[in-house]
Amino acid sequence: MRFDILTLFPELIEAVLKESIIGRARENKIIDIHTHNIRDYSRDRHRRVDDTPYGGGMGMLMGAEPIYDCFKALEKELGKKPYLVYASPQGKVFCEDDAKRLSQKESIAVLCGHYEGIDRRIVDLIVDEEISIGDYILTGGEIPACVIVDATSRLLPGVLSDSECYEKESIYRGILEEPQYTRPAEFMGLKVPEVLLSGNHEKIEKWRKEAALELTRKNRPDLL
Ligand code: SAM
Repeated sequence: MRFDILTLFPELIEAVLKESIIGRARENKIIDIHTHNIRDYSRDRHRRVDDTPYGGGMGMLMGAEPIYDCFKALEKELGKKPYLVYASPQGKVFCEDDAKRLSQKESIAVLCGHYEGIDRRIVDLIVDEEISIGDYILTGGEIPACVIVDATSRLLPGVLSDSECYEKESIYRGILEEPQYTRPAEFMGLKVPEVLLSGNHEKIEKWRKEAALELTRKNRPDLL
């Protein structure tokens, strides 16, 4: 799957998405991530991409022209209109089902806003959907873009060692995952639940189901 990130800070995206599991998925050519610097499309001789909002008000807004030109250049490169997601606190809040849905696409592009956001006409003209990563405001869309790419990529075949890795995880299966433990069997006076050391797979499965439900009831009753 291909991801194109339209941003003013490509190095922020690269810093996050070159490491660990996503970095390996890139090396193994399961995913292909390209960044596009919106500033390269500034029509201003000082390479400015922001301006004051009409009607007054605080802060600066990213202008429509460089974003539009950056998008058009990408469209030309791909030979088709990219499916464009705008990372925006005004969007629908991202969830695992959205990651599943996006992972079915051949490619997506993610637009990162900055400052006070972007000229609304960009949303009206070229954005297919607005996605928020939660009810809080970040300084830019780069972290949300990395969240969207990461959550979507790990559902693609070959990114994790086995689909069981994500199918048994919290949220994906509708409830939280049970508490998990690794060596040592005792740490700071706390012992791993006896049943997990018993080797009795039936009992272990039963314990896992009950522990997962108990944790969900405590931390995320809304999921039940
Ligand atoms: N003035 C905007 C508003 O009130 O809706 C907020 C702009 S925010 C400071 C700057 C940029 O960060 C946005 O254009 C968006 O790309 C990104 N951003 C901030 N919070 C976000 C969130 N929760 N989810 C997705 N993107 C977000």
